[in-house]
Amino acid sequence: MIYGTPQGTGWIEVICGSMFSGKTEELIRRLRRAQIARQRVAIFKPVVDDRYAADKLVTHDRISMPSIPVRHPREVLEKARDAQVLGIDEVQFFDRSVVDVCQQLAQEGKRVIVAGLDTDYRARPFEPVPDLLAVAEYVTKTHAVCVVCGNPACRTQRVVRRGERILVGGSDTYEPRCRRCYEAPEGVSGDLFPAQSEESLPE
Ligand SMILES: [Zn+2]
Repeated sequence: MIYGTPQGTGWIEVICGSMFSGKTEELIRRLRRAQIARQRVAIFKPVVDDRYAADKLVTHDRISMPSIPVRHPREVLEKARDAQVLGIDEVQFFDRSVVDVCQQLAQEGKRVIVAGLDTDYRARPFEPVPDLLAVAEYVTKTHAVCVVCGNPACRTQRVVRRGERILVGGSDTYEPRCRRCYEAPEGVSGDLFPAQSEESLPE
């Protein structure tokens, strides 16, 4: 990081961007460096993401690091007691309580690094990431490469016609696109922040 490291306090770092932008890779890079510095590191991942393995972080390039699968953010509190540095991948799959959990851990003096999607396939903010961005000390936006034009990509284009918000998949399901090349799915209005009904947010 280009910043000076805070002394005597914890803090929150957010790594976010579209799919295929190297979020997990960047998370792994930071966590490995902490391990090299002999800090106690704990890594968590929500169970919903079983693309490759629940018990490790795996990048699309198959670089991996062991992780603890959790179903609810409060399990992170219980299992991170001894850690100095915490990593949470795919943080967008947790509910809003993950924000309080991260705040509490940072308050206790821990370095908390979370990685996740900033927007969903409709290009709308993917809660709870917006709230994490607001309370984090440090924010990194990662970019993929637009598959259409080669620009830096900030959007995740779903290339299959499915309407659920959480649809776990890889390059057969999603591709990175820039703002210009991204096409909103059918039936999705151009409103950035439409009133969201509960039905539009399937679990
Ligand atoms: Zn493009």
